[in-house]
Amino acid sequence: MVRVTRFRFLRQFLLGLVCVVMIAACGGGGGDTGAPADDAAGGGSDLLVVATEPAFPPFEFQAEDGSLVGFDIDLMNAIGEAAGFEVEFQSLPFDGIIPALQSNTVDAAISGMTITAARLETVDFSRPYIAAGLAIAVQESNTDINSIDDLEGKRIAVQIGTTGAETANGIPDAQVSTFDSAPLALQELSNGNADAVINDAPVTLDAIASGNIPGLKVIGELVTEEYYGIALPKGSPNLERVNSGMATILENGTYAEIFQTWFGAEPPELPEEAPL
Ligand code: GLN
Repeated sequence: MVRVTRFRFLRQFLLGLVCVVMIAACGGGGGDTGAPADDAAGGGSDLLVVATEPAFPPFEFQAEDGSLVGFDIDLMNAIGEAAGFEVEFQSLPFDGIIPALQSNTVDAAISGMTITAARLETVDFSRPYIAAGLAIAVQESNTDINSIDDLEGKRIAVQIGTTGAETANGIPDAQVSTFDSAPLALQELSNGNADAVINDAPVTLDAIASGNIPGLKVIGELVTEEYYGIALPKGSPNLERVNSGMATILENGTYAEIFQTWFGAEPPELPEEAPL
């Protein structure tokens, strides 16, 4: 029952996003053992240690039995299967993931991570694997925040190291408080200690629809359009394998199956490259 409701919210979000993407196209033309990666810089091993921050449902989170689940988890395992490597997940704080890639402590990361120009200076990304975007959440009773312009001088809660945090930091006179995970930032808003949260829309909608964090709503429009990618160390020999595994599962229907499982809808078309 809950899952059906979650599907409905997410389907609405995804359909909305397809429209946004279409408008943009027309207008613009355009396992967790902590083991280190043994040969991250080598010629491609049979085991990839993949970092993730598992508090970002429905992309990555812990099931009641403690196991790692989510769209990203299924996707990464399917890519490994298609490309012939095993995946071992390693849980890390989100803001520790890029440093771990830079020091080759992990081979890759899948963590709802947006492909951005700034991150591309320090890591490589696979082709985009899903479209997302930031949304503003407020308390259900709030009527005075209706767009990003209304956030001037307001108290905004965000997850540290994210595109949501970066966006909040650019808002004049905003008092930005940072949290280690998105659910903690949303809880702060639910408790009345913040006026708004800027976070990835699918995750905020899932938190609301699942009933995990009460009393919140998302305001109308998306603040950004973003694409998630799998991040790898710069120059990683595994980039090609990840991309070819992704091409295989996009073609053979496995990607669509995983998308259907988590979002209850057909996947929209994906661009080959993220527009930056
Ligand atoms: N997509 C956002 C980013 O990349 C948030 C990711 C996350 O919190 N896992 O910054």
